[in-house]
Amino acid sequence: MHDDLYPSTAPLDTSEHQAFRATVRRFVKDEVMPHHAQWEREGQVPKALWRRAGELGLLCLTVPEAYGGAGVDFGYSAIVVEEMARAGATGPLFYLHSDIVAPYLVHHGSEAQKQQWLPRMASGEVIAAIGMTEPGAGSDLAAIRTHAAPRGGGWRINGQKLFISNGQIADLLLLAAKTDPSRGAKGVSLLLVDTTLKGFSRGKRLDKLGMHAQDTSELFFTDLDVGADALLGEEGAGFKAMMNELPQERLLVAITAVATMEAAVQWAREHVMQRQAFGAPLSDKQTVRHRLVDCHANTLVARSFLNDCLRRHLAGTLDTATASVAKFWCTEMQFKVLDECLQLFGGYGYMREYPIARAWVDARVQRIYGGTTEIMKEIVARGLLKGGGVTRGTVQYSPGPPDPRAAGTPQDQLASRAYAASRAAAGPKA
Ligand SMILES: Cc1cc2nc3c(=O)[nH]c(=O)nc-3n(C[C@H](O)[C@H](O)[C@H](O)COP(=O)(O)OP(=O)(O)OC[C@H]3O[C@@H](n4cnc5c(N)ncnc54)[C@H](O)[C@@H]3O)c2cc1C
Repeated sequence: MHDDLYPSTAPLDTSEHQAFRATVRRFVKDEVMPHHAQWEREGQVPKALWRRAGELGLLCLTVPEAYGGAGVDFGYSAIVVEEMARAGATGPLFYLHSDIVAPYLVHHGSEAQKQQWLPRMASGEVIAAIGMTEPGAGSDLAAIRTHAAPRGGGWRINGQKLFISNGQIADLLLLAAKTDPSRGAKGVSLLLVDTTLKGFSRGKRLDKLGMHAQDTSELFFTDLDVGADALLGEEGAGFKAMMNELPQERLLVAITAVATMEAAVQWAREHVMQRQAFGAPLSDKQTVRHRLVDCHANTLVARSFLNDCLRRHLAGTLDTATASVAKFWCTEMQFKVLDECLQLFGGYGYMREYPIARAWVDARVQRIYGGTTEIMKEIVARGLLKGGGVTRGTVQYSPGPPDPRAAGTPQDQLASRAYAASRAAAGPKA
């Protein structure tokens, strides 16, 4: 890999970050990639890998030290994601556990819930998954039907989840369920489900197009009883919590996208410089050179935008709309760049033993999970078309053109002030 091609990941460049990156890279090279093909055949990664990652301090990095985490900034999480993505290690979905599920516990969990789950998540003893999607509801999360009915001071859960990553190996499931089916989104609550409980069962590991070492699964809940202490946050506040946590999930998918693009351009660059055709390296042909330059330019632009998002996220100012742009734009670009790079490999690009082939197949889901491209565009459109303008980072409320009544009679001026107040109360919404 030519680090000189994409040397800087600006917000992640301190010497501590660099030393950490070297540790992650060694782990991925020595302990993940030599076994990944076998895990792809088996359809999942062994739990022992998670414990090893825990031992090395690679899990739950942003979780406070009091709960077993490293208590460091999100930049360290981004480094784990980047190193896994560059190597094509799509089986162990550490970020879902460390940077999607763990933050829900940190931000919404009780002290007892944090103590119960986070230290064991940080050590890799407990593997976490998140269950939102159902056969009848994916993009439209408010339409989920899994029901948690009040019972004996706790909850009785019935329902089904689909496409759940880490589904076969998860010890803890963060479950979105309706506690009040009559209230739509406001009836959605989050529950912490211990997967050893009676009433929980795993369906089959799903046969996917790519990410063959990822144990994406169906899950079933049949009269599964949990105590009152399984409720995460307030009853009915699950949808709001999900909306708050989803921007980081989207950023994580964008980080994967850009890191994979960087790797793909490097693989393609090496290939076209070595591969001979018509008596010269492929890299001598102008269309080949230009195709590679287009991929490189798109990757540089994506990296620059991503770094900007990372900086904002580290400063706590990344808004939902910008995270959504990062998610859809970077993943759409990832697919285009990977396809172009694969083309440069000719027939070799279609062979699974070549990383570009696996990366191309694995990339397809990036435009779907974590919120589809279309849903991301809807989120952005909501801010863009609602009297406000989307500026570089924020969906901003714009006062709009001056109201002509402001310069008229006293009644006009009163009406104008009421109008301005109502507009201010309406925005902003991301
Ligand atoms: C490999 C994999 C892993 C996953 N992991 C998880 C997981 O761990 N946990 C989890 O909860 N879920 C997971 N998912 C589910 C994933 O988040 C959903 O598949 C995704 O959100 C889309 O939902 P859907 O499949 O029901 O598609 P649908 O919602 O049925 O959408 C179908 C199509 O219609 C479009 N569409 C829908 N609504 C609109 C609209 N309003 N306007 C325009 N277009 C629209 C969509 O963009 C899409 O193109 C995973 C999925 C996959 C494939």
